Amino acid sequence: MPGYELIGIEEQNEINEVFKNGGVLFRHGFDELRNNCYKVKEFEEAFAKKMNVPYALAVTSGTSALRVALSVLNLQEGDEIITQSFTFVATVEAIIEARAIPVCTEIDEGFNMDFEDLKSKIGPKTKAVIVVHMLGTPAKLKEIKKICDDFDVPLIEDSAWGCGGSYNGIALGTYGRMGTYSFDFVKTMTTGEGGMILFKNKFDYEKAAAWHDHGHENNPKVPRWEDTRASSGFNFRMTELQGAVGLAQLRKLDFIVKMQNKNKKALEEAIKGNKHIKLREVPSGSYETADALVFTVKDKDSALNIRRELLKEGISTKILPEATSWHFSATWTHMKELEVFHGKDLSNAFPISKKLLERAVSLPVKVNFDDDYLNKVRKAIDRALYAVS
Ligand SMILES: *Cc1c(COP(=O)(O)O)cnc(C)c1O
Repeated sequence: MPGYELIGIEEQNEINEVFKNGGVLFRHGFDELRNNCYKVKEFEEAFAKKMNVPYALAVTSGTSALRVALSVLNLQEGDEIITQSFTFVATVEAIIEARAIPVCTEIDEGFNMDFEDLKSKIGPKTKAVIVVHMLGTPAKLKEIKKICDDFDVPLIEDSAWGCGGSYNGIALGTYGRMGTYSFDFVKTMTTGEGGMILFKNKFDYEKAAAWHDHGHENNPKVPRWEDTRASSGFNFRMTELQGAVGLAQLRKLDFIVKMQNKNKKALEEAIKGNKHIKLREVPSGSYETADALVFTVKDKDSALNIRRELLKEGISTKILPEATSWHFSATWTHMKELEVFHGKDLSNAFPISKKLLERAVSLPVKVNFDDDYLNKVRKAIDRALYAVS
């Protein structure tokens, strides 16, 4: 789970530096006041370097990161964008906000995009594919990227859960043409609210940077109030305070992910003796962010029973089985835009995903937890499954 467990003096010191250097909270300008202190810029450069890509743009949230990424694609009326049925609402919201038609695929046993279903849904109207590394486990990037390349469709990674993870040694969020991250308060690293977009090419970066800032090109030849612009845009700028916190959190990212992997392993060991449990499939070559441990049981009642027994121990599950209404598109009947492709019977549009999700349980993994926690989880699960079997 997360960076918020480790928030401390390092974040505070970074923020103090902003105030010691004139207290300029805006990312641009005020050069004479700030003693060369530009936290958002420094955060972008450090993030790009860490992920080994040339360009990064910080924004206000993971949701706006997706929306800004889509701004570079020149979307036209009737264009479709494909994502997966199991994701946070934000992925589909961003597609709708970009005036494209959202299309969702089924998920596979890895709880991410089913590439066979992607193959059946991709076509001439598809303008992008947004793959999600749900709950910290990499999607089948090799297969999905190949399909996108075959159809000449850009791949975007919603790497909100993938920050600090990798696949075959390459950072999640850097396989596609663009990758987006969220730094909201429950993500692997946090700036309170915030997000980042990574770009492989300069043209995409410059277009997105302008669009996230009302079209400002930040032309060095003129002052900002006379700035040049090629298109309208919006305001999704990150503040210096978020940038400052981000710098401190980024330095902790490797440690967070390492600890989570260690703790996930311990959690796995504690429960895998229970033969009623089937662990989520993880593609080989994955280094997970290990934000959660996901497994399935035989039916919905068993999954709900586990949640009930865990709650008695004061332990919550994470999204599954309780929060599918925010994370499964079959339940989003409030988004009429989904009906354009999927028809009115949304609740039956993803039967395979539905069957998998309703009998799934997700346990949060934290940086700090101890043997007592592991014992409680194991006992609660044993009790729950024993009761229903
Ligand atoms: C958290 C999340 C987002 C949105 O990020 P915010 O910073 O909360 O706006 C987008 N996609 C996924 C998969 C997420 O989990």
